[in-house]
Amino acid sequence: MAKKLARKASKSNARRASSKTSGSRSPKSGSQKYVYLFGRKTDGNGSMKPLLGGKGANLAEMCRIGLPVPPGFTISTDVCTFYYANKRSYPPALRAQMEAGVASIEQQTGKKFGDLKNPLLVSVRSGARDSMPGMMDTILNLGLNNQTVEALATKTNNPRFAWDCYRRFVQMYGDVVLGVQKRPDEDHEPFETVIERLKHDRYHHDVEDTKLTVDDLKELVKRFKALVKERAGKQFPDSPWDQLMGAVGAVFGSWMNDRAIVYRRKYNIPTEWGTAVNVQAMVYGNTGDQSGSGVAFTRNPANGVKEFYGEFLINAQGEDVVAGVRTPEPVAELKKEMPKAYAELERIRQTLEKHFKDVQDFEFTIEDGVVYMLQTRNGKRTAMAALKFSMDMYKEKLIDWKTAVMRNPADQLDQLLAPVFDTAEVAKAKAIATGLPAGPGAASGQIYLNADRAVVAADRGEKVLLVRVETSPEDLRGMIAAEGILTARGGVSSHAALVARQMGKVCVCGAAAVEVDYQARTVTVDGKTYNEGDWMSIDGTAGKVFAGQVKTAPSEIVAGLIDGNETAKKTEKFKHFQQLMKWCSDASRMSVRTNADTPEQTENAVAFGAVGIGLTRTEHMFFEGDRIDAMREMILAETVEARKAALAKLLPYQREDFAGIFRALKGYPATIRFLDPPLHEFLPHTKEQQEELAKKMGVPAARIQQRVSQLHEFNPMLGFRGCRLGIGYPEISAMQARAVFEAAAEVQKEGIKVRPEIMIPLVGFKKELDLQIDVVHQAAKEVEKEQRVKLNYMVGTMIEVPRGALTADEIAQSAEFFSFGTNDLTQTGLGMSRDDSGSFLPQYQELEIVTKNPFATIDSSGVGQLVAIAVEKGRASRPNIKLGICGEHGGDPASIRFFEKVGLDYVSCSPYRVPVARLAAAQAALQVKGGD
Ligand code: ADP
Ligand code: MG
Ligand code: MG
Repeated sequence: MAKKLARKASKSNARRASSKTSGSRSPKSGSQKYVYLFGRKTDGNGSMKPLLGGKGANLAEMCRIGLPVPPGFTISTDVCTFYYANKRSYPPALRAQMEAGVASIEQQTGKKFGDLKNPLLVSVRSGARDSMPGMMDTILNLGLNNQTVEALATKTNNPRFAWDCYRRFVQMYGDVVLGVQKRPDEDHEPFETVIERLKHDRYHHDVEDTKLTVDDLKELVKRFKALVKERAGKQFPDSPWDQLMGAVGAVFGSWMNDRAIVYRRKYNIPTEWGTAVNVQAMVYGNTGDQSGSGVAFTRNPANGVKEFYGEFLINAQGEDVVAGVRTPEPVAELKKEMPKAYAELERIRQTLEKHFKDVQDFEFTIEDGVVYMLQTRNGKRTAMAALKFSMDMYKEKLIDWKTAVMRNPADQLDQLLAPVFDTAEVAKAKAIATGLPAGPGAASGQIYLNADRAVVAADRGEKVLLVRVETSPEDLRGMIAAEGILTARGGVSSHAALVARQMGKVCVCGAAAVEVDYQARTVTVDGKTYNEGDWMSIDGTAGKVFAGQVKTAPSEIVAGLIDGNETAKKTEKFKHFQQLMKWCSDASRMSVRTNADTPEQTENAVAFGAVGIGLTRTEHMFFEGDRIDAMREMILAETVEARKAALAKLLPYQREDFAGIFRALKGYPATIRFLDPPLHEFLPHTKEQQEELAKKMGVPAARIQQRVSQLHEFNPMLGFRGCRLGIGYPEISAMQARAVFEAAAEVQKEGIKVRPEIMIPLVGFKKELDLQIDVVHQAAKEVEKEQRVKLNYMVGTMIEVPRGALTADEIAQSAEFFSFGTNDLTQTGLGMSRDDSGSFLPQYQELEIVTKNPFATIDSSGVGQLVAIAVEKGRASRPNIKLGICGEHGGDPASIRFFEKVGLDYVSCSPYRVPVARLAAAQAALQVKGGD
């Protein structure tokens, strides 16, 4: 309890400290605390990451729970802020506080900084709030000079060790602080070149670093210093305090180096955060073969297995492990080599998990058999590991079920559903190109460059990979037939990517290195040519393309849910997944529907837990088989009669499609959108296509050509589309309504509940909707009478133009539901065409005009406001109005959190995205309820 209170007190101190620095600073900040001790007395704790950085806060936390951490202190991020606000200078009070910090370390270790008998050496370590590559590298063994190195040698009776420390120090300090680094014309690090030359001079061949003698090391220090003098133009500093201040300055200076800036931009880390600096007593992993350094995870972060997982190096300091100079051994080997230290590490592993209640990734050093902890943090993990961790830790009572839900990153969940490459096989294969990981999973197949040939090959039983420059609706059949889709052009919202997500297809798109030659039917990558029928493989999780065949298997979860595979259902992964999904339902306020156009997609989505359809795009049904002909006939018709005749041909197809979907839904509601895209999308554009159609229809080709050019639009996206079609040609809406209701009547008679929700697209005026509602009601009345049934349906609209959102109160007088079409709402709200955004959006993100792609994650402050306004106004005139969202954003976790906040009733997304949306909806509900 006392501990808790103390922690609370220091937390509010931290808050006070940072508010002081962010406001206007008084020149006399002498009383402010800049240095936080850890060790026997610990000022900070794990919750103080903003002030102490991740590393510093957790070092403090480990001290508090009694883990063996070498003592030290953290210089707060406030100093970094001060440093940049004051022309790279320090607050006057800092030096005295640092001196007190060093004195405290001296007292605890019995060593003295710069002492000639028992010298204290320290490490200087950077540490931002989130770990951040690009920041300054750690400096070890600081405090050595020609005198203290002799003292260390005498004191430890180990001159080799002392000189090994010294040469490491001069090398690191020279590199990191004094900037002696590889020049553009050099192939190797200059210090490494010096080492190689010495080895060559003295041994005439390569020897291991550990084999270098005291004399060799002394010579190296001399040559290193000469190198520093030559390159940096100054003497290597001898005074420990000069060394320390230089290192601290280098850490703060590195916050603004290019690498760090680039990294921050990429991951949206604010510059204001700043970095902290940790100064810590050295412990030595390089004193002999009862010493060493390592990194470990408390559980396996790749597959989640509860086993001690990590690696270490005997007789080495920490940087050797990561630098890859020597190959480390698995941590389990320690059991044999240092059983006591291993037992201690096991104890630490348990303590860490019990305390942090999450899997830890930690760094340790063993000095003469004694274990020291140097860092811990929550370990990064694959989706598979995250799932197993969360379920196992729940069973172990380390976490509750809500925490278990939160522990699974929603945007990684689809990794679990994707077919997988055999890991051993993929290690052997070499990537020939990379692109956007648009549809996660693994696919291998023989390449085909056009949809027809892909279909024929698939019918022959081949596994097919469809390779296109980019795809369009005409490729749909080929895409369905293919194992995976590879495109040379296009981004996450390209047609290929969209279809991949909707169908759960593996897809890599925009792989620019892939040159597609349709005429020659070849694909060339990096000078090598592949013919149709050759094998290629794509990893849609990593965005990689491989030549040849790499073996795959379906995920157990898909096999269990979709294929009903009983063996798969017995796997732990499957059971864990089902448990997670059940908890998601318990936690969620919003429900999850799906965007589906076929019975099969609907069935899959329902198997994944969707409770209805949020969007059926009826026009997708018009592309299949010879339906397109009737569709074209309808569009080209010049009289109402001719149009009605063509529509009559389409009606049975639509009815059949709807009936199939209703059956697959088993009583769940279905939102059906009436015809939406500009008509010209359906038309034959090439001369051959026009002639072919003319022949089929028995009209002159010129007539068709004329009609096509009549229908030409300068800006089709804002043209004759959406409800404007149904208003211009009410017979289209009448046909669609009739098809819906006849299907409903048919399926209802089979004893299945049917709940169609007819959705009129692109409404901006109440009157638009009213005109269409009349047509729908009329059709319903007729069918009810003809079929002697009672239909249970709703009519509503899509809110997808700003005017619709702004006049939602008027529209809601007629609309029984709203579904936010956030794709078009984003396009019209931003005045930005999604399909053309590729040419400027990347730069917009680079310049941080937009932080995220607004077509992937909703622009919550702009487009989001339109949604919020429509929600408020809609509910004002119709309190029980049903509100959902069916744009691409419905499957995006960050957007789902926004929709939870504005209070929508459901989100809708593509079938294979349903589990992700369920998880994201659950997490959003838990967070929003938790006041986050
Ligand atoms: P990074 O942030 O790159 O992991 P660290 O500051 O954690 O850098 O330092 C890297 C390694 O340096 C640590 O894992 C540890 O092995 C070693 N190290 C850091 N401080 C000390 C110390 N006081 N004593 C011994 N080794 C240390
Ligand atoms: Mg580290
Ligand atoms: Mg739309």
